[in-house]
Amino acid sequence: MTRKTSARGALVARRAAFQAALLAWYRACRRPLPWRESPSPYRTVVSEFMLQQTQVATVLPYFARWMEALPDFEALAAAPEALVLKLWEGLGYYSRARNLHRLARKVARAGSLPRTAAGWDELPGVGPYTAAAVASIAFGDRAACVDGNVVRILARLSRDGTRFTDGASASRVFAPLAQELVNPADPGDHNQAMMELGATVCVRRRPSCPACPVRGFCACASAGDPEAFPALEARRTERRSVVRVWCERAGAVLLHRNGPGARRLADLHELPTARQAGLDPARVAEGPLIARNIRGITRFRIAESIHSVRRPGARPGPGLVWVRLGDLGSIALSGPHRRWTAQILSAGKGQARGPGGGAPPPARGLTSG
Ligand code: SF4
Repeated sequence: MTRKTSARGALVARRAAFQAALLAWYRACRRPLPWRESPSPYRTVVSEFMLQQTQVATVLPYFARWMEALPDFEALAAAPEALVLKLWEGLGYYSRARNLHRLARKVARAGSLPRTAAGWDELPGVGPYTAAAVASIAFGDRAACVDGNVVRILARLSRDGTRFTDGASASRVFAPLAQELVNPADPGDHNQAMMELGATVCVRRRPSCPACPVRGFCACASAGDPEAFPALEARRTERRSVVRVWCERAGAVLLHRNGPGARRLADLHELPTARQAGLDPARVAEGPLIARNIRGITRFRIAESIHSVRRPGARPGPGLVWVRLGDLGSIALSGPHRRWTAQILSAGKGQARGPGGGAPPPARGLTSG
């Protein structure tokens, strides 16, 4: 028997004690989060959608605002999409908001909620992790949640040094072990305890092994090398650059409203790229620079520069709209663009001085937003 399988086998053999230690710790030490303190299937679903790729501290104010405006599935199902996107504005990954909206309409039409992970897995925007989380927390279904946190804990507990090219393949490999360890007496709290352990104790760098409730079951704790697990290959980063324009006139700013084909950004407004504004990016990039931002989206590192221009090109692309500065607060702008717009306006950098020259005539083919 290899070291890997023996550590894993020993863990499974002692799973009742493992489950008890984990659950006792969770019930004594868990963070008091609003979706935990007064749980309901709706609150669980909304929190799980918001928490996908987003940290708890970021989600908290959004969750409070959302619950005040849309307290249940029926209210969400009846809400216009503009309100849903507005409440989500700044959380990013807007396809989550749209899918949550579609999910609410679907369950409102059905008149009942699925009670198993397999049933939830069929609904819009629900993958295996969210399905297991909602079904176990809200309905006690014995389904294991497996995400990066859980993979990290399991790889360390079993000191499994298998090399993985990405998180998805690691999740697939550890899913059977996660399922074997689920506490049948309270699968929901067990899953939340694993998430809590990964978020607060068994963290990526410098895990708090001396304070860990399951250190007695952990092969890495005794070997002293938890940070070496899981063995994930470093993700290659791709660099991209985007040239955007700031075009302001007569108290309005030029924005680009993404069409329905833009998937996660559909219907959201952004500062237009040079191409969307019908301008040559190289020429625009030579004009006055008013802001530069670097951000990471999945594996891309994107450098964006925003340049002042006097007017859009003679043949602007579709989706451009003039939005009065006073109306910016009432439209859905994607999070970084909301921030950049506010910074540019508050710094008074937006005066038109760039390519174009002369007084800007009304641009043909553009609409008012
Ligand atoms: Fe993670 Fe350390 Fe706990 Fe093992 S003992 S599960 S490495 S925090």
